[in-house]
Amino acid sequence: MHPTTTVRFAPSPTGALHIGGIRTLLYNYLFAKKKGGTFLLRMEDTDKKRLIPSAEAYITESLHWLGIVPDAGPLQGGKYGPYRQSERTALYQQYLQPLLAGGYAYYAFDTAEELEALRERMQAAKATTASYNAVSRGVMKNSFTLPASIVTEWIASGKPYVIRLKMPHKETIRFYDLLRGWVKVETATLDDKVLLKADGLPTYHFANVIDDYLMQVTHVIRGEEWLPSTPLHVLLYRYLGWEAAMPQFVHLPLLLSPDGKGKLSKRHADQYGFPVFPIAWESEDLTVKEGFREKGYLPEAIWNFLALLGWNPGNSQEVFTKEALIEAFSLERLGKSSVQFDITKANWFNRQHIQKQPAVQWVGYFQTAAAKEHIYPSETEAIAICTVVQERVTFPEDFWKEGSCFFLEPLTYDANLLQQKWNKQTEALLLCFMQALVLLTKWEDCTLKQTLQSVIQGQPLAAFLPILRMALTGRKTGPDLIAIMRCMGKEITYKRIHSFLAQMSNQTAR
Ligand code: GLU
Repeated sequence: MHPTTTVRFAPSPTGALHIGGIRTLLYNYLFAKKKGGTFLLRMEDTDKKRLIPSAEAYITESLHWLGIVPDAGPLQGGKYGPYRQSERTALYQQYLQPLLAGGYAYYAFDTAEELEALRERMQAAKATTASYNAVSRGVMKNSFTLPASIVTEWIASGKPYVIRLKMPHKETIRFYDLLRGWVKVETATLDDKVLLKADGLPTYHFANVIDDYLMQVTHVIRGEEWLPSTPLHVLLYRYLGWEAAMPQFVHLPLLLSPDGKGKLSKRHADQYGFPVFPIAWESEDLTVKEGFREKGYLPEAIWNFLALLGWNPGNSQEVFTKEALIEAFSLERLGKSSVQFDITKANWFNRQHIQKQPAVQWVGYFQTAAAKEHIYPSETEAIAICTVVQERVTFPEDFWKEGSCFFLEPLTYDANLLQQKWNKQTEALLLCFMQALVLLTKWEDCTLKQTLQSVIQGQPLAAFLPILRMALTGRKTGPDLIAIMRCMGKEITYKRIHSFLAQMSNQTAR
């Protein structure tokens, strides 16, 4: 029987999640759900120096906002928990013994100064290989160079040490990446990575491999930045006798900055003014960076945007619901090359997903925004206005931006537009239109349209309609004018035109 597909999202709670990390999370989730498998969340919190206490709650909240519920995780628990590595530290110890006994790992007592000196020597010699390696290991303070009695004595006396993996001298490590095919790495380019740190905690590499094995992870889907670590992980599987159970690897290509030059970073986000965090993040210096949530992006738009940023459905479909993405997703259609991050595409998806919902869905946003200005539209009014403006909305806040003119009378009119379009002819037309409106008994789209046509009768619309719009809303652009008037109602429509005409004639009189 095949093992159940099991994937994990394994963030280190050392800061905010980055949008690239969210894409990794999403691909893992989509894959698990598509396969009817298990998606687990594991906190890789063994790096005490970089740990930020609020980061775990931030990650949990981000997943919650995205609507992603892990099948197992720190909050949910699960068969192979705990899912916080800091709660599993005792467990890692037992796997060091077979590595030490087999000569695959060793104790190293080098101080920070000695390691720094080694690095400098390597740099001076312009060594291209890793620093603590098969050659340099022979001149450092470790259980290969020191007598066994000293090693025992130093350990007993509490002298700080780390445990390193003994990287084979000249070997080629081969592993298969589902996206990249066979990857070959020469061990000469790798160093003796630390498995257990001086504080007694495992490093990322060690804990990650043990947990993937114990949690029966079948697919490791992660960012390309972890590709160089994979040979070490492969060796750990081999030395621990777990090679047959090794997960399949998928290393996702990088997200690039909008100009395509280099990896997408927080700096680009600041430079171009777009978010890179899913939800707002408060840094330790108390500055807050808004996330996609605060900027008004919908979770389903972020799913859709990120899903297509490195994966394609094999046809021209672009807009997907969450369910449709799960249905369509496959690892085979992941792209091999890095993708440029384009915020205008994210905006486009947001717009599509806003348009897809019935207007009634947005009434809450509209009413909340209106209430901030002490305006309290009824549910019916709000639905009607949201329906009229919806086609122009990209973010939920746009409902009020576009719709506030139904409540707020224009205070000023655009001088440029007036200069271009306001003349005796448009004035006469507007007056005539206003008078015709008074006589209307049925206030409907068709009667309004007829009235407009009968007043205009072959006159240039291009001059008149902008003036009418300006009179009604004080704006140069907006939704369909007939819909605006229908929604404003007779009284307000009349009043707005009337005030406009009054103001214009005042100006001319002066
Ligand atoms: N803890 C690692 C990270 O922060 C996990 C990498 C992996 O998926 O193996 O991204």
